[in-house]
Amino acid sequence: MRIVAPSYSIQDDLDRASLVVRLEACGRICYKSEGLISESSALPFVKKIAEHGHNSVMEMAVVTMGVKCSGEQFDSLLALEPKYLFMDRLETEVLVTASIRSLRELYQRASDNPVVQAMVAFMVAGHPYLFEGVWDGGGDDGTSGVEVRKLDLDEVDALSSELLAKHRFLGVKFIVNRAVTHEIVRHRPCSFLQESQRYCRYSQDKFDNQVTFINPMFYEEGTDEFALWEKAMEDTEEIYLKLLETSTPQAARTVLPNSCKTEIIVYCNLAEWRHIFRLRTTPAAEPSMREVMIPLAAEMKERYSAVF
Ligand SMILES: Cc1cc2nc3c(=O)[nH]c(=O)nc-3n(C[C@H](O)[C@H](O)[C@H](O)COP(=O)(O)OP(=O)(O)OC[C@H]3O[C@@H](n4cnc5c(N)ncnc54)[C@H](O)[C@@H]3O)c2cc1C
Repeated sequence: MRIVAPSYSIQDDLDRASLVVRLEACGRICYKSEGLISESSALPFVKKIAEHGHNSVMEMAVVTMGVKCSGEQFDSLLALEPKYLFMDRLETEVLVTASIRSLRELYQRASDNPVVQAMVAFMVAGHPYLFEGVWDGGGDDGTSGVEVRKLDLDEVDALSSELLAKHRFLGVKFIVNRAVTHEIVRHRPCSFLQESQRYCRYSQDKFDNQVTFINPMFYEEGTDEFALWEKAMEDTEEIYLKLLETSTPQAARTVLPNSCKTEIIVYCNLAEWRHIFRLRTTPAAEPSMREVMIPLAAEMKERYSAVF
């Protein structure tokens, strides 16, 4: 067995990557198949994901658009009560931040709405594969007058603090124990992808044929308590590997404990990160949660002092 310290990393590299590369990099965390990423792997991976309905992967990339439309057209969009769209009416345009999933599903139920149609047509022009099976070719004859442009990341980062908090999304990958992931996923406005104990078979070579556990911050190495914890993990690993000889990972995982290492990507806007830090850094929060959230909150504050 292996014991590792908990950690986190802000996914800056993916912020600058293309949408499809970003989706693949996030999606592969479930299977821990990052080793299969190549120059040509992103497109087939994302297509398969969309076909299989693994929809949360399609939440892992948002786009911020500036939409020019009439007041009436904007009202028709609001009347749809679109879910998971972040919108602000500015003087000259409407700012809309939406994930690929939210756009796909909005188009499925309201493809005749001129603003929905214009936004999705704009996305299809650059990324047709993300709307495969959904896009019907569009019925816009060009008379709606709706104009759509994409804001690049630097433009989003330059927004005023209130707009920045709402429209700037940031992904963080955590390597933590299963108790921490269990608590993190309670934050409903976030999108999550996590290492699956159904798909990952820790007896495989890519896992070095062993289970990885997170070092418990409660017990100091060298103490009797730590030795007891370590023994429990060793015994568990032995039983888990034995069960895998005759059963599936989803069956064998039923013996895995809270200390089991889990990788999880949390993706949400800065406003939700602010809310998470308010709840997860105070003395009332779980200490293993605070262990990662306190330094992360400090780092975010340094980057976005106007928001945090
Ligand atoms: C110290 C601590 C102890 C806890 N103990 C327990 C426990 O013993 N058992 C347990 O089950 N949970 C527990 N929790 C989890 C807690 O109840 C929340 O589920 C979790 O912190 C998510 O936060 P949230 O609900 O404020 O907001 P999020 O889910 O992060 O949502 C953000 C915001 O969206 C809004 N929102 C989202 N969904 C809804 C909705 N359906 N209705 C209205 N508004 C919504 C709210 O304004 C909310 O502030 C604990 C959390 C903490 C920090």
